[in-house]
Amino acid sequence: MEAAAHHTEFRTNSTCLQHPHWISQHPWLWHGFSTRLGGVTSAYSGDRSASELNLGFTPDDPPENVLENRLRLAHAVSDSRNTPLVSIRQVHSAHSVVLRPGDFPWTELPQADGILTDATGLLLAVQTADCVPVLVADPVNRVVAAFHAGWRGTVQRVVQLGVARMAAQFGCVPDTLIAAIGPAIGPCCYTVGLELRSQFEHNFSYAADLFCPAATQNSDQSPALQLDLIEANRRQLLDSGLNPANIAALGGCTACQPHRFFSHRAQKGHTGRMMSVIGIRPNPSS
Ligand SMILES: [Zn+2]
Repeated sequence: MEAAAHHTEFRTNSTCLQHPHWISQHPWLWHGFSTRLGGVTSAYSGDRSASELNLGFTPDDPPENVLENRLRLAHAVSDSRNTPLVSIRQVHSAHSVVLRPGDFPWTELPQADGILTDATGLLLAVQTADCVPVLVADPVNRVVAAFHAGWRGTVQRVVQLGVARMAAQFGCVPDTLIAAIGPAIGPCCYTVGLELRSQFEHNFSYAADLFCPAATQNSDQSPALQLDLIEANRRQLLDSGLNPANIAALGGCTACQPHRFFSHRAQKGHTGRMMSVIGIRPNPSS
């Protein structure tokens, strides 16, 4: 496996991680990747303290906690608790939806794993707890997009098709786009079986770069592999025509940092959800 791309030091504000370059260079843009810290959820904390920021409507956390946590995230990113978070019903597909001004609020959440808009004053949101969140922005046309990529979405090219949709729908030129890949499971903890490698080999000429042998075996004694989903999605951004210098990755691994991030694998399914959000300020100063 090739070494992962150089990682960017993200800045921590009260409840989320932000790319310092986006903050300084793109004041029209809102964005943030939440961590598990800074909320009112107690269901997943080891000591039951009501301090965690679960942003998904999970069975173990009362919805009023999730709603309060979402208001806190909106405030952390946009300075207003009233900024709507627009989420989608994620189904591990390659489908992206376009949100037009006036479309929101939806009567029913659309099933999709990507969301695009040029509407201002709201935050597009994807939820993850190991899967790869990818935020993309077009500083020329002022378009934003958020994608959720687990292995299924990655094999189906949710990010690559999403960037193509940005171009088709809004005239985005890929080499002017900027992208940020948020907290996700690293190859260190993402052990998979051989069948996944063949799926990737069928779809990507560079599949061999994404896998390396794992130290452990699968439960059926077959050899296990480690998959670098973060790099897989970075490659899709590159194949889409993005400039490598315009792609930032937080790096690290959700499963290796259980006190910082929710991780489906590390917490064996009993975990909360983080959100990655991106939006366009309604009245940008520049
Ligand atoms: Zn790890």
